[in-house]
Amino acid sequence: MSDFVKIFNDAMELSCLGLYEKQVAEVNKGDQMEYFRSPLLKKALDKFSLLNLTYNLFNQGEPILPTSETALIKSFNFSTKQFINRLPDAYRKPLTKTDWYMDESYVNIGLENTYHCTPELLDKLNERIFRKAKKAKYKELELQSQKFIELLFEKNQDEYCEIRSFLQHTPYITSKHFIENESLRNFRTKYPDIFEAAFERLNYQYAMIKVCKHCGLILKERIDGTLYCVSDRCSRKTNGFSDIKKVNAEGDIWVLRLNVARYIYYSGLLEKEVKKILLKAGIKPTLWPKKDEWDFEFNFKGEKWVIDAKDVKDPRWIQEDIKLKEKENLPYDKVIYVVPSDKNSNYIRAVNRVVKDKMKIQCMTLASFKKMIKEWKDESE
Ligand SMILES: [Zn+2]
Repeated sequence: MSDFVKIFNDAMELSCLGLYEKQVAEVNKGDQMEYFRSPLLKKALDKFSLLNLTYNLFNQGEPILPTSETALIKSFNFSTKQFINRLPDAYRKPLTKTDWYMDESYVNIGLENTYHCTPELLDKLNERIFRKAKKAKYKELELQSQKFIELLFEKNQDEYCEIRSFLQHTPYITSKHFIENESLRNFRTKYPDIFEAAFERLNYQYAMIKVCKHCGLILKERIDGTLYCVSDRCSRKTNGFSDIKKVNAEGDIWVLRLNVARYIYYSGLLEKEVKKILLKAGIKPTLWPKKDEWDFEFNFKGEKWVIDAKDVKDPRWIQEDIKLKEKENLPYDKVIYVVPSDKNSNYIRAVNRVVKDKMKIQCMTLASFKKMIKEWKDESE
């Protein structure tokens, strides 16, 4: 995909989510007169403006792609085909081959300049990559993750496991790592699309990078100089980052993008702990059977067990997963949701409350899981 099409695509996706976000906010605000500015539309507009400037998309001095919320809403009152047809041929042509080139519009403008999303936009937002994103608090981050997962799911089972395991062990790569480590170079050659989507390249000229001692990711710095990481837990565990690891990084450094850092690398920490416990007890699990429907599958005392390691703030996400899974006939003897040891008993109770088959499905902390496996192991010896 050319840069132009890629940025256009990103801007369109953000527009779809932003138009939805804005309409929901407008409905919820009731009689309050405050004007809601959608952060997602703002990002979409930034991308459209970037395209106008980079590719000189102006018609008699006026930008062709929208640069304000009002202009954007007005543009999408027309069919997306008309929206694309305004562009010069060289830019229009590649877009006519995309899903964006449609006869339908995304919004209808009503009285007093209000608008509502059309069924076509709502259908679009029902596509897999948007479904979770539109409900999420951080919609753009969720969209990026869904797109990444989609890319990952195109790989076969072995490739899937290879990639996921690589990302869980590679929070960042320095130029020096690349020179010294052949397997890193091989990974990039074998999966260029994944590498590009998972890492962003930064240039630290002879800089010292600060690494989180709890999770191993590179710490980010706020304007006031305070440090932060992908989870509050990192700050708690390191006493507000009073102790950090420093790494010399000359030249380029490739860092996991935020969505991959949060949803694959960071959640992988818990998976690694579970794996350690299993291996110690002599159990050799299958990793990510059926590409992440579960994290581990193994035979234990003649029974078929599966485990899902879940590190999420809100127990609701696990409850929803359980409700969904219980609708199917689960072909396992035991299904365990393992959560971090710092989750309290209220959290565990909340999850277990929704379970119908309590003999089969159970949520427990990593500490309880470790204890349970150890006890069984001791008994069997
Ligand atoms: Zn961290």
